[in-house]
Amino acid sequence: MRFVRYLQGKETPRYGWVYEDRVGPIEGDLFGDYRRLEADIPLSKVRLLAPVMPSKIIAVGRNYVEHAREHNVDVPEIPGIFLKPPSSVIGPGDTVILPPQSERVEHEGELAVVIGTQGRWIPAEKAKDYIFGYTVSNDVTARDLQRKDLQWTRGKGFDTFCPLGPWIETEMDAADVQVSCRVNGELRQTASTREMVFSIAQLVAFISAVMTLLPGDVILTGTPAGVGPLNPGDTLETVVEGIGSLVNPVAAEK
Ligand code: MG
Repeated sequence: MRFVRYLQGKETPRYGWVYEDRVGPIEGDLFGDYRRLEADIPLSKVRLLAPVMPSKIIAVGRNYVEHAREHNVDVPEIPGIFLKPPSSVIGPGDTVILPPQSERVEHEGELAVVIGTQGRWIPAEKAKDYIFGYTVSNDVTARDLQRKDLQWTRGKGFDTFCPLGPWIETEMDAADVQVSCRVNGELRQTASTREMVFSIAQLVAFISAVMTLLPGDVILTGTPAGVGPLNPGDTLETVVEGIGSLVNPVAAEK
């Protein structure tokens, strides 16, 4: 099933589910007990938001062999994890803002895992039980600041640097799906998730051995080779096979 967060007119944001080209509201807790109301609102009449507001976003660096190669670094022996702040999240159609501190902001199209059940020390073979679904993300990165700083917090953490959406897909096998990124229609990145160095189950186990994963938390699973710069006026499109397409315009900070 596809779950969205949306705005209809002046109402407060709410969760919904998608059936064909219509949205139905959800009553209750998306990650607990909820009830689906009739899907009778045309998708074109709502504004889709980031499908979840995570308490934390855990991202994984160099999780595709070819991407590690393009940066001339070794394929890691343990997952290289870092955090992006919840304030970096934007939704479908929202603008990625290029900050004045950076001269080179790059796209990193990624498959995002959405956690559904609280867990610590989750064994890899149980990871599926804790995953709610999957969405599309872009781990937007100020590459020059990432290289210059002691930590990646600044380079990865600007407002708007974590587009998520357009929805959470709960019924898919994410082990072998294509992750792609286009800029102004030109294909920049594409690879299958089967080329990941660490599997989704291994990542859930590794991360939950460090920190409690909470419902709604998001794991960005790493980016394929082909990362490149974003410029004002660009249109960024990130696609994950089986989920959909996340489109975000790019602009300079005013
Ligand atoms: Mg990344």
